[in-house]
Amino acid sequence: MANSISSSRPSHLVQIALRIWVKIHIGLLAFKVYRSIKKVKLVFTEIMKMDRKVSGGKGKYAVKNGKYWIGIYLPEFPSKNFDRYVLTEMNKFMPHTFPINSYQQVNFAITTKCPMRCEHCFEWDNLNLHETFAVDQLKQVISKLQAKGMAHVSLSGGEPMVRFNEMLELIREADKSTDFWVLTSGFNLDLPRAQKLKQAGVTGVVVSLDDINPEKHNTFRRHNQAYQMATMAAQATNQAGLLLAISICVLRENANASFLTAHAEAATAMGADFIQWLEPKAEGNFRGKDVTLTFEQISTMEKLFVRLNNDAEYRYIAPIMYHGYYQRRLGCLSAGKSSFYIDSRGMVHSCPFCHSSDFHIMDWLNNTNRNEKKISACPTY
Ligand code: SF4
Repeated sequence: MANSISSSRPSHLVQIALRIWVKIHIGLLAFKVYRSIKKVKLVFTEIMKMDRKVSGGKGKYAVKNGKYWIGIYLPEFPSKNFDRYVLTEMNKFMPHTFPINSYQQVNFAITTKCPMRCEHCFEWDNLNLHETFAVDQLKQVISKLQAKGMAHVSLSGGEPMVRFNEMLELIREADKSTDFWVLTSGFNLDLPRAQKLKQAGVTGVVVSLDDINPEKHNTFRRHNQAYQMATMAAQATNQAGLLLAISICVLRENANASFLTAHAEAATAMGADFIQWLEPKAEGNFRGKDVTLTFEQISTMEKLFVRLNNDAEYRYIAPIMYHGYYQRRLGCLSAGKSSFYIDSRGMVHSCPFCHSSDFHIMDWLNNTNRNEKKISACPTY
């Protein structure tokens, strides 16, 4: 298995060279900002500590179209957007006067519509209600958030591909200081549409694939074409030259090394640049259900995550992002600190999995004193 898919991953030497280049770049950026070796040392150490807690060690990079990525939620390296992202993180450790982002990532559900009925859907209460936002209002939300500085926006739903033409218009007209990603089940994402996304300025697509057994995936998504659509979308994303992330909600029955290794190998073989592991939360359609992973399952996943991301024998596997891993070490980065969630009715929440319904996004954006409205802190991390 390893040999058949290793060619799509950057070589070990390229990974080492990239790591050194990124470190030098961050060091120089810190010096430009602070002009003090002592401050540079302090901030650099904190940034590297954070990096290790996110990647579980040294981590891996993705290379596509001659460009480099450290993670889904970081802009490409090197770029102005990458620098601004890093400056924003530096400012948390030691304030400076350079421009920063108010938010590093916003997940924006742009539609209530969806053809799936997934068991874990966190938008379950809003599915297929009347649309809240007309396309002009979607644009207004994006442009107001961009005016505050926003590194990354994930367009979700519902199924964002249901609103394909309006989504294209939204992305095409937006300022490119923000990376646009589309979070999809794979619905309707064929090559021509993937190419249109790329032309409009999308950076990448996250395709959900919760099982490598087609029948099990279809049952979980309650749609008999779900697996076929996800695999077609992955292929189209790749062929169009977009970054591809394969995302999985790891159910209790799948929280073991054998399944997750097989899933990571399958995702890599599909051309994934990143793999994302999500832990199930008792929210949305899972509300009131006993879905939370056990301590032993989390421990198994964390150990495997570190191995797959760092051990030489797994170099062929795409880099894995596991939010639970860094949240348990760094605390929650969402809940208004670095990111938040806007649901398809416009309500702002701590994150997609912690529904706080704090206020409506338009009330907040139209309010000149935004400090009056607070996003709830994470109740877990
Ligand atoms: S999880 Fe996503 S794809 Fe599944 S029903 Fe909910 S909105 Fe649709």
